[in-house]
Amino acid sequence: MLEKVLIANRGEIALRILRACKALGIQTVAVYSKADADLMHVRLADEAICIGPAGASQSYLHAPAIISAAEVSNADAIHPGYGFLAENADFAEQVEQSGFIFIGPRSETIRLMGDKVSAKDAMKAANVPTVPGSDGPLPDDPAEMIEIGRQVGYPVIIKAAAGGGGRGMRVVHNEAALVNSVQITKSEALAAFGSDVVYMEKYLQRPRHVEIQVIADGNGNAIHLGDRDCSLQRRHQKVIEEAPAPGIDPQARADVAAACVKACQEIGYRGAGTFEFLYEDGGFYFIEMNTRVQVEHPVTELITGVDIVREQLHIASGLPISVAQEDVRFTGHALECRINAEDPQSFMPSPGRITTFHAPGGPGVRVDSHIYDGYTVPPFYDSLIAKIITYGQDRDQAMARMRQALDELVIEGIRTNTQLHRELVRDASFMAGGVSIHYLESKLEDG
Ligand code: ADP
Repeated sequence: MLEKVLIANRGEIALRILRACKALGIQTVAVYSKADADLMHVRLADEAICIGPAGASQSYLHAPAIISAAEVSNADAIHPGYGFLAENADFAEQVEQSGFIFIGPRSETIRLMGDKVSAKDAMKAANVPTVPGSDGPLPDDPAEMIEIGRQVGYPVIIKAAAGGGGRGMRVVHNEAALVNSVQITKSEALAAFGSDVVYMEKYLQRPRHVEIQVIADGNGNAIHLGDRDCSLQRRHQKVIEEAPAPGIDPQARADVAAACVKACQEIGYRGAGTFEFLYEDGGFYFIEMNTRVQVEHPVTELITGVDIVREQLHIASGLPISVAQEDVRFTGHALECRINAEDPQSFMPSPGRITTFHAPGGPGVRVDSHIYDGYTVPPFYDSLIAKIITYGQDRDQAMARMRQALDELVIEGIRTNTQLHRELVRDASFMAGGVSIHYLESKLEDG
C-alpha cells in the first residue's frame, strides 16, 4: 500500500481524498495556495505545504511547485482530484518521470482521451457506440465539408477536437451556414485551445446525459459500476446527478456497460474513469471520456457500496480491484445536489464569509463539503461548496430525503443556489424522471 499521498487539489474533493487515505492508513500531504490556508483538509493533513499565490496558474496549475512539494515531503504518489491538472497528460508524465505514482491513467491514455477525435476513433474501434458524424477531423475543402454535412444530416454540431468545459462547439442548422460556421469554430478553437482541428457530429435534439463509471487496474482487468444521469445542467455544468439513470432499457444499459468494460480492457485503462454518453430514443452515443474521479462519484458509491477513491488508491498501490463484476450489487437510488456559492438570480459567484453552516443529516444523507462556520469562500476558484447526497430504497425515497435535507440545510453569509435545488426536487417533470439536457435551461427561461 502507498505510504504517503500528496493531494494536488482543494475544496471538497481534497477532503474526500484525505478521508480515503486516512481510512487506509496512508499519510497525507496537502498543498495549498495563499488563499487556502484555512481549508479543512489543510488542517487535517499530516503535512501541509503552501505552493504559491492565490491564482490557480501559480499554484494548483503550477506543476513544478506541486512536484517540488512531493519531493520535499517524500510522498509516493500524487492524487490530482478533478479539474486543475487531473486530465493534463504532460503533468501525469512529469509526475511519473520525477519518480512518483500518478493516481490516474497512464499519460498516453489521458492524451488519447483528451483529443476528442482520437478518443472517438478509439471508442469506435472498441465497438462503443458514438454519435454519427465526420470520421476524424473535418477537411478544409468546402465541397468535401458540404458532402459530409449531407451524409450526416442537419442539424449538425461542429466541435473542437481539443475542446472542453462546454466550449468550442457550434450548432449548424442548414447547409448555407456550414462553411462560415466551421471557419468561426476553427478560429475560436485555435485561440482557446491552440488547435484548429474540428469535427462534425449529428446534433441530437433532446438527448439525456447518461454516463458509465468504470474502474480498471491497468493490467486488462476492468469492471463497471453502472450509470448516472446528469441531464440537469446549466451552461453544460451539471446541477443534479442521480444513479441509476431512470427508465433506461435494461438491454441497452447492459450492452453499453459491457462495451465500456471491453474498451477499458483493450486500451489498458488504469484507475477510475467515466464514459459520457448522450442517450436518445433508447440509443447511447459516446461523446467523451473523463479520465479521473468525478464530482458526482458519490451517487454511484451509495448504490454499489464501492468506495471509488479507495479503489483509486488500491490500484495506484498495485493491488487488484477489490470487487469482482459479479459481486457488484446495484441497490436503491441516489441523488446529488451541487450547492454553489452563487447568486440565485444572476448565477454570478458569491464568495465571502460563511457566518452559519448547518449540514443536514439523518438516514440516507451524506454531505461532502469542506465548509464550516466562519470559513471564507475565496473568489479565485470553482464555486462548488457542498454536495448534498441522499440514498433511498427507491427513487421516491431518495427524492423525499433530498427535499428534507435541502430544507434542513442552512448556509448564511453568502448567497447559494440552495433554493433552486429545493424547487427542482419538487418539479413534476424532474420527479417523473428522464428530462433532457435542455430541461433546466428552458425551465429557467420560462421563469
Ligand atoms: P466538453 O468536453 O466541452 O464538456 P462534450 O463533448 O462533453 O464537451 O459536450 C458537452 C455538451 O454539449 C454535452 O453534454 C451536450 O449537452 C452538448 N453536445 C455535445 N455533442 C452533442 C451532440 N452531438 N448533440 C447534441 N448535443 C451535444
